Amino acid sequence: MSFPVSRRIENLHPSDIRLMTKACERVGGINLGQGLGDLPAPALVRDAAIQAIQEGQNTYTASEGIAPLRQAIARKLKRDNDLVVDADAEIVISAGTTGAFAATLTALLNPGDGVLLLEPYYGYHLNTLLLQGLEPQFLTLAPPAFSLEESALEAAVKPNTRALVICTPSNPSGKLFSSEELAIVERIARKHNLLVISDEIYEYITYDGRRHISPASTPGLAERTVSIMGFSKTFSITGWRLGYAVAKPDLAKAINLVNDLLYVCAPSPLQHGVAAGLDAPADYFEKLRNEYQRKRDIICDGLAAAGMAPFIPQGAYYVLADIAHFGYPDAKTAALALLEQTGVASVPGSAFYQGREGDGLVRFCFAKDDQTLHEAVRRLGKFRPV
Ligand code: PLP
Repeated sequence: MSFPVSRRIENLHPSDIRLMTKACERVGGINLGQGLGDLPAPALVRDAAIQAIQEGQNTYTASEGIAPLRQAIARKLKRDNDLVVDADAEIVISAGTTGAFAATLTALLNPGDGVLLLEPYYGYHLNTLLLQGLEPQFLTLAPPAFSLEESALEAAVKPNTRALVICTPSNPSGKLFSSEELAIVERIARKHNLLVISDEIYEYITYDGRRHISPASTPGLAERTVSIMGFSKTFSITGWRLGYAVAKPDLAKAINLVNDLLYVCAPSPLQHGVAAGLDAPADYFEKLRNEYQRKRDIICDGLAAAGMAPFIPQGAYYVLADIAHFGYPDAKTAALALLEQTGVASVPGSAFYQGREGDGLVRFCFAKDDQTLHEAVRRLGKFRPV
């Protein structure tokens, strides 16, 4: 007799990303599926973490994180996000952006509440909602611009909708939300008293001179927004598990209560590492942008040449490509055919939609070294649909 697992687990959507990674390992291919972030972590951050370990910073910290990190974040929020916050009352350091997102949902919403996701969405957002007994609701944004329209957002709000999740820059579309779109969010959120949860983990990875706008910096949104940010992508330390939530004091207090119960605290010495990184010279962030923009151009040029029309991302390090004309019945079949013939793994577009809109799409991650990207596009250029 096998013991049953919880109904919460049974409701989750299986991850096609893991499936593609396994399939890629079997054929020894190039994995442009999962977003691991392959750049080296900056020496400044590594050295400060090592020093903290050597100096004995190895015990629990306060659940909201160490004061020097919260103060460094407050300086960064003012400098880069146009947000003035109280480092003691409005910042909660957590176990990654993922941990901050989960703690926020648990602290501020109730089972059965509706939460709006914008499609294409990030799969963890959907599954974390499901795990918490929240009701995911969807609004599809259409390529190539993935624009948010006021009438569509208004129509998507149901009587039980309590929150809206925004991911900017977006995984998987690479969309950056404009100030006009954030003004729409503000009007609808105020009208329906919605909480806004904004995942801004890719905030420093933006292209063509564009800058990320934090939703909370929109007048009228600050009171009702939880900004979720992290270090995984900015410092290429996805395995360190450090992120944070920024919210008004009463919300932050509730988030920290859950944060304490779920994680006790974020890894102590690593908090010291990222505190040093946040005060890195401005050219660190500029170099990061340039580096990823070069990689974006390598993959987008290669995809265009291979007849897999890319929707050029404005930020983050993923690109959705339109492969509908290859005629495969669904995106998983297409992604597996691509892998089999070229040895390049992608993620089927269906991983980011409830309906069939993702069936003609695949997503490539370009957080890889240039040589790997050049080899991947060389192989993709030889693909012939069968
Ligand atoms: N949010 C988005 C949109 C992501 O794409 C990812 C990772 O790919 C995460 C969060 C995970 O962030 P963290 O490593 O801080 O948990």
